Amino acid sequence: MVIKSDIPRLAVFPQTAEVNNKGNLAIGGCDTVALAKEYGTPLYVFDETDLRSRCREYKTEFGKRYPKVIIAYSPKAFTAKAMLKLVAEEGLDLDIVTSGEMSIARAAGFPMERIHFPGNNKSFDELNMAMKYHIGHIVVDNLQELDMLIKIAGRKKVKILIRLNPGVDPHTHKYNTTGIADSKFGLPRGDWDEAVRTALLAKNLGVDGFHFHLGSGLFEVEPYLNAIDAVLKYAAELKKKYNFEIRTLSIGGGIGVQYLVGKVPPPVAYFAEAIAKKITGRCRELKLTPPMLIVEPGRKIAARAGMTLYTVGVIKEIPGIRTYVSTDGGISDNIRYAMYGEFARQEAVIANRVSARNTNKYTIYGKLCESGDVLIYDIMLPKLKAGDILAVSGSGAYSIPMQNNYNSMCRPAIVFVKDGKARLIRRRETVEDLMQRDLD
Ligand SMILES: *Cc1c(COP(=O)(O)O)cnc(C)c1O
Repeated sequence: MVIKSDIPRLAVFPQTAEVNNKGNLAIGGCDTVALAKEYGTPLYVFDETDLRSRCREYKTEFGKRYPKVIIAYSPKAFTAKAMLKLVAEEGLDLDIVTSGEMSIARAAGFPMERIHFPGNNKSFDELNMAMKYHIGHIVVDNLQELDMLIKIAGRKKVKILIRLNPGVDPHTHKYNTTGIADSKFGLPRGDWDEAVRTALLAKNLGVDGFHFHLGSGLFEVEPYLNAIDAVLKYAAELKKKYNFEIRTLSIGGGIGVQYLVGKVPPPVAYFAEAIAKKITGRCRELKLTPPMLIVEPGRKIAARAGMTLYTVGVIKEIPGIRTYVSTDGGISDNIRYAMYGEFARQEAVIANRVSARNTNKYTIYGKLCESGDVLIYDIMLPKLKAGDILAVSGSGAYSIPMQNNYNSMCRPAIVFVKDGKARLIRRRETVEDLMQRDLD
């Protein structure tokens, strides 16, 4: 009998990961080797129990520390109709960036009034659509958008949040910072006053409050606290000046995920505790009524619940240099490591021999025509052979939405597993799918 703690890497796999009596990796009571056989590889596997418990963790940990909280899942991390349905069932809202995401939410039957819409370059059509469906909030990003919105709204009344760029460094990968002064997102400090004045004067806009989003993969709470401080101070000024009351404050998403065995971020509870305390305390000092708090997790909900299965193909040893292991996927199904480097490093195990000792050093590649087609550099694994099933952890967030069809690769299928049952929630792409938009 193998126990989970004997294999440290399983700590970063989905919650229900275990080694079954065949010595194979099982998730949600399903043997992953059998899943690979049934659905083919590459294959994304999501642990439904893990997904739901992350949703509940946010609701519980923020809910018990702060009186009015909305948790809004950011579907850009992983957009699938089944996922949006699950999120709706768990009572979360959505935080979308494009009309595409809005359309998918509608198709999944997501309640439109529970949708919030940031996005740094919304089109006329997107704003129109948001108004037509009466979504919860349009989150105004810039002055141009504000003008356009006032024109489009006409006589209708639209509820908005104003996205402020608080100029706070979240200490994460530079591609993942969104709230530093030098950013394309939100209103720069110099535009705050004009935006607020214009929005408050517009009879067709209901200014509910403010929004910020600092970045993704944050391990520290201080950036949130600094941004909250800046925004609440500003809200207090506006109260004096315009008798404006902040009713809603969105602090965006960004809480970091454990991708590696040795790199553990603080739990959601730690962030919730410090954030709730900060808002409550500052509101008391500044004589503001504590606003409704919106928290927008994406990565933290989906990343750990998802993993990818690959079949090992060619193993090429170049003595004294490295051993290349090619899989049947690559940067077409997970480009994150190629994009962000070690920051996006993931762990892996051999699904059909989970307990074997990690004796050999390999670099895991895909099958695409790019030397940058790498999934993991220099990872210790048991001695590999062709046909082994490689399970890569932490692929539930941002891997699937960033897939591509380079080399006419067909995008993998996705299954949800729970209580020993697997259900296909997205079929594998076919070559016919790839040609569907081509005209003769
Ligand atoms: C991307 C994004 C999020 C989610 O970020 P995570 O790091 O995945 O939690 C939340 N809010 C906004 C506005 C975003 O752009």
